[in-house]
Amino acid sequence: MSIRQTEAIVLRSIDYSNSSRIVTLLTPDVGQLRLLAKGAKRPKSPFLGTLDAPSLLEIAYSLRPGADLGTLTEALLKTEFRAIRENLVDFARVCNMLELAGQFGREGEREEDLFKLLLDALTGIEGGLSSQVAGPAFHIRLLAQQGFLPEFGSCVKCGKDLKETGTAVDFVAGGWVCGVCKSQSKFRLNRQLLAHFRALGGMPWDRLNRLRIPPKQAEFLQRLTMEWTQHVTERGSKAASFLQKLAGAAHPS
Ligand SMILES: [Zn+2]
Repeated sequence: MSIRQTEAIVLRSIDYSNSSRIVTLLTPDVGQLRLLAKGAKRPKSPFLGTLDAPSLLEIAYSLRPGADLGTLTEALLKTEFRAIRENLVDFARVCNMLELAGQFGREGEREEDLFKLLLDALTGIEGGLSSQVAGPAFHIRLLAQQGFLPEFGSCVKCGKDLKETGTAVDFVAGGWVCGVCKSQSKFRLNRQLLAHFRALGGMPWDRLNRLRIPPKQAEFLQRLTMEWTQHVTERGSKAASFLQKLAGAAHPS
């Protein structure tokens, strides 16, 4: 069996038997990958300290054609994202991103765009970008990448041209709705919110820290984009419900 090498981000890692772990990774070359790390829990294992999410690794592995579990043979830790792990809220937002990457990342297919998006978000937050900005930016770009975010232009319900005021998002209908069709939506965007939404989706990652979004608006955009991705995946997210509880505790209604 041939040994292959790739870059990989650890999405999650679970114990397997007394001494081993199974690690789920996102790679640019072969998408999502599940590998058995034999002996990873032994005190002298070379894998020790490398398999925790969201580490960036350079790995070597083997995988039989058609098998859904391969074997990890080497793991070199490139970035451990220590700052993210030390901040509870950043870590929860990142866990939500890792869950989503796991839901969208296909097995055995190239996933360069998804890998790059996740790595950009992690690198941004690790470098000091607020996760309150990085969170919605990740969600918006993920929705666009996966084909769930239509271009801003016409109402998805009635087809009318959208003016850049008084629009809303109706993700059950599939995107942007006009001032007339917006009555059902709880996510109405004024001109400023719409500008933030578009900047979050389009600005280069290294310039996102220049965006000044008032906390209430950032929270609104976080809630909107998180509910949108949840709607698309039709799954709840443990990390997302934790963040919603946290937001509720900070701003009791
Ligand atoms: Zn309409």
